Amino acid sequence: MKEKESKKRRLSIKSSIFISMALLVVVMLTILWLTQSVFLSHIYRYTKKNETDRAASIIVDNINNENLNSLIEKISSEYDLCAEVIRYPGDKEILYDSHFLNDCIVHKLQLEDTLLDFWYDMAQESGGKYTDIVPRDKFREFYDPDDFHGDVPRRGGDANCVISVSLAETSDGDSVMVVLNSFVLPVDATVKTLRLQLIVITIVMLASAFLIAYILSRRLSLPIEKINKEAKNLACANYEVMFPQEGPIEISELADTLNYTAKELSKVDAMQKELIANISHDLRTPLTMISGYSEVMRDIPGENTPENMQVIIDETARLSSLVNDLLDVSRFQSGTQKLNISRFNLTESVKSVIKRYDKLISHNGYIINFVYDEDVFINADEVRILQVIYNLINNAINYTGEDKTVTVKQEVADGVVRISVIDTGEGIAEKDLPLIWDRYYKVDKVHKRAHIGTGLGLSIVKNILLLHGSRFGVSSEVGKGSNFWFEFKIL
Ligand code: ADP
Repeated sequence: MKEKESKKRRLSIKSSIFISMALLVVVMLTILWLTQSVFLSHIYRYTKKNETDRAASIIVDNINNENLNSLIEKISSEYDLCAEVIRYPGDKEILYDSHFLNDCIVHKLQLEDTLLDFWYDMAQESGGKYTDIVPRDKFREFYDPDDFHGDVPRRGGDANCVISVSLAETSDGDSVMVVLNSFVLPVDATVKTLRLQLIVITIVMLASAFLIAYILSRRLSLPIEKINKEAKNLACANYEVMFPQEGPIEISELADTLNYTAKELSKVDAMQKELIANISHDLRTPLTMISGYSEVMRDIPGENTPENMQVIIDETARLSSLVNDLLDVSRFQSGTQKLNISRFNLTESVKSVIKRYDKLISHNGYIINFVYDEDVFINADEVRILQVIYNLINNAINYTGEDKTVTVKQEVADGVVRISVIDTGEGIAEKDLPLIWDRYYKVDKVHKRAHIGTGLGLSIVKNILLLHGSRFGVSSEVGKGSNFWFEFKIL
């Protein structure tokens, strides 16, 4: 129920991309609308005011420049403004005069004392510089148009005047007032045009967002849908699936990983199946033997011999060792295997394991040599180390060559004892060497009855030696034999 709800709340790739794109478009368009429509006149006024300020600063910085006149002309034309440099307070003489604008208010009002006084006071109050955007009507507070030769010039309806007044001092010690005047034109018409453009842009952008979202989502979701379909097949234990490596890098990498996973799963599956087949085979063989011999012994009194009894005992031992191996593996797998460490005679342990093969030696002509110089004591779990030695010797006997010889060597060097179990058998190919320590791994699948194993022996050896923290390894040459070894510190 909960899963269903969360599924409902989640969006498809297509919707997510489209919503994201639409959001992006909305944000971008909002910014465009705000800057190009709502705040355009504010931005324009701000820019104009800044420009006029900058022009005033240039003139003030160059007030003693002998080319000031041409500089003022240049600035006036560049910034579309008119400029006056008036000696003030003082004789109010106009030192420089540029009226690039033909309706320059300053030029027409320059002699108006009240206005000049007002600007002068304002500039002084503001630290030598006064800038303002003044509505044209405001001039009338200082100036009566009737006294003026002509009307206060109007330029484009509600045009506002940018006034910048700066105070400076010339090298002659004269105080001067630099008065600049430019116009802020009304932007209503521009805004209208821009709005129309923005409506078109909005429609085009939303349509493109939809199209891009559609194309993108198809590119993303199609390969994912295919992967999903194949993954469902994989979930049904169909390991032959092939995840298509299409779409963006991440998705094709995912497909690659899934292909690898499917391959590994199929390997594990095959190994498990093989293990079960082996175990069943291994369980069935001794069971058949036990039940067969028991029946014969029950039904035919003469068959109740110690030899037949021994077969039953041997097969029972085989069964219990197989079950023990499986238990060991599961304990190592779950990490619950604990060691029972004590000091014991390793040389004696090797001897005792070899002794178990006395029968094999006398009946089948096997030769097990034990080469050693002295008795060596180590600290370890004796039962487990016996298991290691037993497994290695058992393998050596199973795989050794025609000479049926196995050599066990005990070498001591630098306080370390190395036990090597050497056979003269078929050897192990280099590519298989790292794998033989894995659970269920078996190089040769076709082997004699005596060789049938579960593929667990070396995995158990490895786990025991790893738990002890001891070094171990194998060197082998195909056709010549193998040398399995492990080392322990001597006490
Ligand atoms: P198994 O029960 O099959 O012997 P092991 O884990 O003991 O399982 O060994 C894994 C595989 O390693 C064996 O199937 C065999 O192919 C290979 N192997 C082990 N010991 C030897 C050896 N002395 N010589 C050649 N091959 C060996």
